[in-house]
Amino acid sequence: MDVQALIPLHCPLCAQEMELLNFPIRGRDRWYHRCRSCGFIYLAPAHHLSAEAEKERYLQHQNSNDNGYRDYLGTFIEAAVIPHLKPGAEILDFGSGPVPALTSLLNSQGFSCHTFDPYFSPAPAWQSRSYDAVILHEVAEHLADPAAVFTAAGACIRNGGFFMIRTRFLESCADFASWWYRMDATHISFYTEIGLRQFMASQGFSQILFRTPDIAVFQKKAH
Ligand SMILES: [Zn+2]
Repeated sequence: MDVQALIPLHCPLCAQEMELLNFPIRGRDRWYHRCRSCGFIYLAPAHHLSAEAEKERYLQHQNSNDNGYRDYLGTFIEAAVIPHLKPGAEILDFGSGPVPALTSLLNSQGFSCHTFDPYFSPAPAWQSRSYDAVILHEVAEHLADPAAVFTAAGACIRNGGFFMIRTRFLESCADFASWWYRMDATHISFYTEIGLRQFMASQGFSQILFRTPDIAVFQKKAH
């Protein structure tokens, strides 16, 4: 790929300038934009998969109901959901994937969890409803326009409600060049804790939990 053809971008989270960096994979160029201010890293759009190829990858994803994955979901529910929500709370599982395993688990624990997924559960009603919490579980790393999604999700959270996210933060990465998390072709957005915290603050949310390597919870201020 010709680096001259890469369009400079501004950070979607903090609007500052980004620098272009090449981290080849198996000898092939792979360009990223990295924010000089908050550290957010974005895979150059020329490398993004088509919608069809992306959907195909999600269908192969292993978020099935096997025990290992259920335990993994359980650690998220224990850390993020249980301390902040009571049974009966209305939750949106945003980007639930082809098998909404998190939704099933939350509903089995007494929560009222709904799904939205642009490919697999495209119910448009979510934007006109409000929720006690919106969860993006292993979703943020796939987002081509994270600011738009976080803003829309934040808008349908009730005052005092929660925005819960699980994605591998850059703080957990010692060496981006060899980081396994970027090897998945559908992973295009990589966040720092401070970058996400600052963006959510601009949306009226305060961070109430950050647990390395991958969990953060924000609460919408009551007006
Ligand atoms: Zn930034």
